[in-house]
Amino acid sequence: MLLKCDIAVVGGGASGMAAAAAAAEAGAEVIVIEKNANVGGNGLFPRGVFAVNSRLQKTKLIKADPDQIFTSAMEFSHWKIDPDLVRTLIDKSGETIDWLSEKGVGFTDVVHHLPGQTPEVFHITDKDLNAGKAVIKVLAEYCRSSGVKLLTGCTGKKLILDSCRAVFGIMAESKQDGEIRIEASKVIICTGGFAGNADMISRFYPDFNPDKVAAGGGMRHTGDGVRMALEAGAGIEGNFAMEMAAPKIRGFEPLNLLLGKPWNIWLNRSGRRFADEGIVYNFSMAANACLRQPEAEMWVIFDSAAMKKTLSEGRDMIELIHISPDAELRLEQTIEKAVQEGIAVESGSLEVIAEFIGCPAESVIETIGRYNSYCRSGRDAAYAKNRGSMLECSEPPYYAVKAGVDMLITHGGIRVDQQFRALNDDYNPVPGLYVAGVDFGGVDADVYNVEMSGHGFGFALNSGRMAGENAAASLKK
Ligand SMILES: Cc1cc2nc3c(=O)[nH]c(=O)nc-3n(C[C@H](O)[C@H](O)[C@H](O)COP(=O)(O)OP(=O)(O)OC[C@H]3O[C@@H](n4cnc5c(N)ncnc54)[C@H](O)[C@@H]3O)c2cc1C
Repeated sequence: MLLKCDIAVVGGGASGMAAAAAAAEAGAEVIVIEKNANVGGNGLFPRGVFAVNSRLQKTKLIKADPDQIFTSAMEFSHWKIDPDLVRTLIDKSGETIDWLSEKGVGFTDVVHHLPGQTPEVFHITDKDLNAGKAVIKVLAEYCRSSGVKLLTGCTGKKLILDSCRAVFGIMAESKQDGEIRIEASKVIICTGGFAGNADMISRFYPDFNPDKVAAGGGMRHTGDGVRMALEAGAGIEGNFAMEMAAPKIRGFEPLNLLLGKPWNIWLNRSGRRFADEGIVYNFSMAANACLRQPEAEMWVIFDSAAMKKTLSEGRDMIELIHISPDAELRLEQTIEKAVQEGIAVESGSLEVIAEFIGCPAESVIETIGRYNSYCRSGRDAAYAKNRGSMLECSEPPYYAVKAGVDMLITHGGIRVDQQFRALNDDYNPVPGLYVAGVDFGGVDADVYNVEMSGHGFGFALNSGRMAGENAAASLKK
């Protein structure tokens, strides 16, 4: 089958749907091909979107200074990232929230994500329809009503190049129609990274061992976009960040109400503490600390006093946003199940906790004893934990939960310019090719910047939108 259009978008997730909507709005004829049966990709999961200077922030009198956010983003990544790209994405972000709101996304609030974070940049929607689903629903409706062809169950296989190596379409395979040749003046690649491609992970993250992490929520994309762009002559930007989170366990969601507290104690398989547990709110840093431990294993320890404090204080913002509203109702049952399945233990004795971890009892007794002395003196002489988060662990029963690192998505890859045109190794545009979402590199270095909360989704939407606008504008030229 042969199809023709102005712009072909490969991948109908966060960046792809934004690209298609923006290009159609600018008058281009657009086809989106999406591998899955439905559009959305990992764009269905986010709870919030990063933005600076949105109308919602202004209404709430939140002064979000783009220069300050830009500077801290660059410092967080030690200037290993592309300042022009970061600036472009930050500067566009507020207006993109307004653009989405005008199309019908019901942003209800803008909140902090990390405790005490100012300015608030995390734009959220109603609890019943998380930000991801709300945005994808609205963009899909907009695309359909603007004449965008959404081909689901259709996988992009190979870019079509002319004799001058300009991209002018894509070969795709559809479950329904077999091979499809889509000829397009511009192609925008938006395939969501390569978390499901072991070869690419070992190539681009040579120090990372996927066997030590669990596959977290979301979809594991196979890196088709990065592969196709490389085959077409695009270059690699240089830095790859893996979005990871700890402490996590699979299949026991209500336990996250307990695991995410800064007053817990984290032990490794030697029964030793290894971090300021207050970093729990910054899930990337917590994952880094855990990955340094033998076999990347960690056990989260708390006593009955900590359990009472956790339950009586209720949820913090992160838990309000990310954990299902009925988790408290399922907690007791989940703890029982975790104990039965050997994921957790409850005991009046620290010896049993040590046995569960598989380390000498003296290690746990000595570590907890020393931690308790830090709590009494008001100073964590090991890891400088904030004194407000220090709570003695001395009231049995004690609890231990075996946790580890979850891997979410990859960030990084293809080098692009500020118009999101793919660049080759000589920094020249690959004619006809744009890249958006997590398939391009240059905005996160080796650690995903959680402090710029919600920028994964935010930058995907903004890069997609700008790629769509620029591709459409270049048709007119
Ligand atoms: C569980 C979870 C929670 C998250 N929460 C947040 C949050 O609260 N805030 C935040 O900022 N970020 C969050 N993120 C990250 C955010 O979802 C991503 O940064 C964002 O979705 C990336 O957009 P993308 O367009 O690059 O990829 P995606 O949205 O994943 O879209 C890629 C699409 O391409 C399709 N595709 C792949 N290969 C092909 C092919 N060959 N042909 C056709 N189609 C193809 C895929 O099926 C998919 O639909 C979360 C991620 C996960 C997994």
